[in-house]
Amino acid sequence: MSVLVYTESEQGKFKKVAFEVASYAKAVADQLGTSVTAVAVNVEDTSALANYGVDKVLSVKNPVLDVFNAKVYADVIKQAADKESSQVVILSSSANSKYLAPLLAVHLNAGYASNVVALPSNTSPFTVKRTAFTNKAFEFMQINTAIKIIGLSNNSFGLVESSGNATSEAFSPSITESGIKVESVDKVTGKVAIADADIVVSGGRGLKGPENWGMIEELADVLGAATACSKPVSDMGWRPHGEHVGQTGKPVAANLYIAIGISGAIQHLAGINASKVKVVINIDPEAPFFKAADYGVVGDAFEVVPNLIEKLKAFKAQQ
Ligand SMILES: Cc1cc2nc3c(=O)[nH]c(=O)nc-3n(C[C@H](O)[C@H](O)[C@H](O)COP(=O)(O)OP(=O)(O)OC[C@H]3O[C@@H](n4cnc5c(N)ncnc54)[C@H](O)[C@@H]3O)c2cc1C
Repeated sequence: MSVLVYTESEQGKFKKVAFEVASYAKAVADQLGTSVTAVAVNVEDTSALANYGVDKVLSVKNPVLDVFNAKVYADVIKQAADKESSQVVILSSSANSKYLAPLLAVHLNAGYASNVVALPSNTSPFTVKRTAFTNKAFEFMQINTAIKIIGLSNNSFGLVESSGNATSEAFSPSITESGIKVESVDKVTGKVAIADADIVVSGGRGLKGPENWGMIEELADVLGAATACSKPVSDMGWRPHGEHVGQTGKPVAANLYIAIGISGAIQHLAGINASKVKVVINIDPEAPFFKAADYGVVGDAFEVVPNLIEKLKAFKAQQ
């Protein structure tokens, strides 16, 4: 009857989001008076999960799972849910989890709510709060199936440490190859991925040209942030398409989003407004982005950004 949580990993190590979903699963399990079981795939050392309230880890080790395949992963998690008789399954709202969750819902005959931002109601009916209309509204959704799947919105719950011991159990689900086989995935290395980033530094057309992106990269480097851009910037080939954020690009739910030379068009805001703190640097005080910003700097990016980098470097040197 434990709450089951899928803890995402990459190259044998947990992603930060794994600890957030584990923290959330622990809070849900406390509400229900039960324990937390995590599914970990090809993770070398799973002990860190104990710090976030996990009681038991089902550790799956199989080289076939090195490359993500939604059908196969959904099948693995389904078998874990069956084994644990789990009534609640928790995943993140990453692209991979959003891909596999509907397949899992079919396997488990479960209701699924994505982009959930709070704990479920403690009373019947089981109701979750989720974002709707590209983060412009919240909706409360009842899940009335026996098994419920919750996709937690990134950075909505945070990390909650709790002391404990997690037992680790080798778990060997039967894995049937699906019709689709991903041969290999080439990833950009040495860069923070937008999906995993706590901080995102984003540039727009106000930066005038690709030759000016050095300061954006330097700022991102100082902050340990991912770089992103507005749609026209990637359309013009100033930056790779993988950096385009917004309604038609990648969604961003970072703790800090810094928009530099971006006007704040509705299609851009739709993709980034789940971010907690938004800082805008724009030369035009009338730029619409200021209405959506938590902090704004009216100024020329070519003066403000180098100054900011210098100040941050000096601050870091004092630490
Ligand atoms: C169907 C559809 C989907 C779309 N999807 C997306 C999407 O997913 N993501 C997205 O971003 N857009 C999207 N767009 C485009 C969107 O409408 C805007 O055109 C776009 O976001 C504008 O990009 P920008 O802010 O970089 O450029 P601009 O609108 O040209 O704004 C540049 C800004 O830079 C400022 N600036 C200029 N010089 C400086 C300086 N020296 N220092 C500081 N600031 C300066 C200007 O004041 C201005 O505010 C979509 C549009 C449509 C129709």
